[in-house]
Amino acid sequence: MNKNVLISGGSVAGPALAYWLHRHGFTPTVVERAPRLRDGGYAVDFRGEALDVLDRMGLLDAVRALDTEMGDAAMVDAEGRRYATLPAAVFAGDLEVLKGDLTRLLYEATREHTEYVFGDSIASLEEDGDGVLVAFEHGAPRRFGLVVGADGLHSKTRALAFGPEERYLRHLGIHTAIFNLDNYLGLENTGLLYSVPGKAANIFTARANTEARAAFHFAADGLRYDRRDTAAHKRIVAERFAGEGWEVPRLLAEMDAAEEFFFDSNAQVEMDTWAAGRVVLLGDAAACAAPTSGRGTSQALIGAYVLAGELGTSGGDHTAAFAAYEEHMRGYVAEHQALGREGAERFFMPAPTQEVLDMLAANAPENTRTEPVRLQDYGV
Ligand SMILES: Cc1cc2nc3c(=O)[nH]c(=O)nc-3n(C[C@H](O)[C@H](O)[C@H](O)COP(=O)(O)OP(=O)(O)OC[C@H]3O[C@@H](n4cnc5c(N)ncnc54)[C@H](O)[C@@H]3O)c2cc1C
Repeated sequence: MNKNVLISGGSVAGPALAYWLHRHGFTPTVVERAPRLRDGGYAVDFRGEALDVLDRMGLLDAVRALDTEMGDAAMVDAEGRRYATLPAAVFAGDLEVLKGDLTRLLYEATREHTEYVFGDSIASLEEDGDGVLVAFEHGAPRRFGLVVGADGLHSKTRALAFGPEERYLRHLGIHTAIFNLDNYLGLENTGLLYSVPGKAANIFTARANTEARAAFHFAADGLRYDRRDTAAHKRIVAERFAGEGWEVPRLLAEMDAAEEFFFDSNAQVEMDTWAAGRVVLLGDAAACAAPTSGRGTSQALIGAYVLAGELGTSGGDHTAAFAAYEEHMRGYVAEHQALGREGAERFFMPAPTQEVLDMLAANAPENTRTEPVRLQDYGV
């Protein structure tokens, strides 16, 4: 029965886990709340051993083919004058791709041996001696041997198995909105960034300069709003950025019309344990390090590899497997979370000088300093 695993969340951690669970002889089912695969989205990057995991999955070349090939960006003032260069090394990692492109690739690599259920969510979990009875918001109830919450920062699985998210989220005082738009400035493999105290706006090219992504970031503590009310999110951003210079008025108009829109607090997840009985958490659901760490995708991929490997070699003892997974990941995650907090502290550098930006670039290798997680060979 333990071979039958439900994974909540079909973004990065979920499909990556499905891939490795199948390699270890499990039967994964992924339930994803979104009605279909999410294409595009913002750019995410990979560091260190995550590239090794992609290689072990046979996907490294395919991911490299999706590289955004982002070059250096420019800092601009309120009149649009470029006053400094922001080296790509500061923000693009070892390899950068659009998150939706990565999700599609992982989906294609797993769909043959994974049941994907889109447009649904776990509604309740009831564990007994040999499994978990799972009720869904739409589908009929089903039994699984194990349940993995890979459903992100606001994990429903975590709420059901461990309690409300307020217990576990540490907000870093930054809110971010990101949306798709045309590359109306005709930029080529680059971005422009406007930064004033407590606020920043940027635009970056995407998909070989045929599209762009823009973002607004602002400092805010204790902001209250309905997480599902997109119109309210857009209003909050518009109010914060009213009267700002550069392309901000045009970007606000573009945001208003944008269908692909993301808005959230930059937060971390801190938990004493990621396992409760037959339920375990993975990726951002377990230990979000925040976008300011630049490590979330790598952490999700490596965590999936380790969790599946430990389950595959545990001889059916999920409690021992979950404990070993945590032991392997804890130090690595702690480093990422420290990076996330440091990144948040220096996020709103007002008009940073070229000297400071060059120093950040020079330190970029140091930013990849995280203690490498030793990728064990799990024999598949
Ligand atoms: C603006 C931004 C920029 C980032 N930049 C980087 C970067 O440069 N480098 C980097 O490494 N990381 C970056 N990250 C972080 C990275 O996106 C995450 O760490 C990574 O996607 C975590 O993957 P995940 O699969 O754990 O969670 P997520 O990608 O959050 O996926 C969770 C999935 O679960 C689904 N879901 C949610 N609730 C339910 C439910 N009830 N039932 C079923 N499914 C559900 C969601 O729809 C989603 O598909 C960034 C994040 C943000 C927000």
